[in-house]
Order: sequence, then structure tokens, then C-alpha cells
Amino acid sequence: MDRKTCPICGEGTLTLKQGTNETEYKGVRGSVSFFYEECDACGSEQADASLTLRNKRLMLAFRKQVDGLLTGDEVRAIRKRLKLKQSEAARVFGGGPTAFSKYESDDVAQSAAMDKLLRLADAQPAAFRYLCSLANMEVPDSLPELKLIEDAENVVWHTLEPSLQGDHYGDVETQEIPIEGSYG
Ligand SMILES: [Zn+2]
Repeated sequence: MDRKTCPICGEGTLTLKQGTNETEYKGVRGSVSFFYEECDACGSEQADASLTLRNKRLMLAFRKQVDGLLTGDEVRAIRKRLKLKQSEAARVFGGGPTAFSKYESDDVAQSAAMDKLLRLADAQPAAFRYLCSLANMEVPDSLPELKLIEDAENVVWHTLEPSLQGDHYGDVETQEIPIEGSYG
């Protein structure tokens, strides 16, 4: 790979370096990597537009983690499990045509609502099918075997699944709550 010439002194060449930022977000401390280039002649440290963007994404990824949101890689993994292109994912889940490219590259943090919707669609094929039907989209072919919920404790929805499939839907015992006293 060609080394870049230093734009500051015009003589030295630049070497990519990695540093670590100690940062804090919502009371959580973390070490976040950042990248810069160093000139071997004038010693200046610099980050061009593409490195600046990369550093911004690393910082946002840390914040997403603190906020309990799926990382860009996790969003991409879910979308691929659901066999959706980015544009199709936007049709099914919303967010606008470029939303998924931004989520997946950590340019933008998805909302908590979007985050939960993605997790739900990933864990519950019936929910995913329903979202596809709302978007007038066919459920993608060759959807992998229904993902088993490995950690059922963490997924409240799994207890609802059988009632959606069987004929017990809506067959929930209700309990009347007596109203004590009277109004007025
Ligand atoms: Zn230089």
C-alpha cells in the first residue's frame, strides 16, 4: 500500500497509529480506540475525514453499548438472519431508506423502539411475518429454521407464542376486580 505524504510538511510519510481514549458516557467509563496518522518527518498527528468518521463510529458504538442497544454488527447479523436487504429492512421496520446502512456502520444509533422491534422479529418468527405482512412484503424465501430461543428466561414473549398458534388464543382467564365504594 502506498504511504500517504504528509499534507502538513509535504515531505514525510504518514503511518497509521491507534490510540485509546478514556471516555465516560452516562456515568459509565470505557476505553475507546481511535485512529490517527503520524508523520515521520514533522511528527504531526492528524486524522483525515475517513479516520475522523471511523473514530466517530467507534465512539457511537461504545455509547450504544452503554445504552443497551444492539451494535451495528448485531443489527447487520439480525438483518441477514432475516434474509433482508437493507432497503427491505427499512420497509419492514421503518426508519427511512438509508436507516440500516447508518445503524450498521454505527453512524446513527437506532431508537430504543427500533432496537426492541429488531430483537422481537429475530426471536419470534410470527412477529417477523406479521411485520412483513404490514409492509406488504413476502416473507423472504429460505428463511433459516426458526431460531430457537436459547435463553428463554430473557424473552418474555416466548410464553405468548403457543397461544398465537393454537386455538387457545384469547382463552385467558380474566378476573373481575370488584370496585369498592362508589363514585361521587
Ligand atoms: Zn509532516
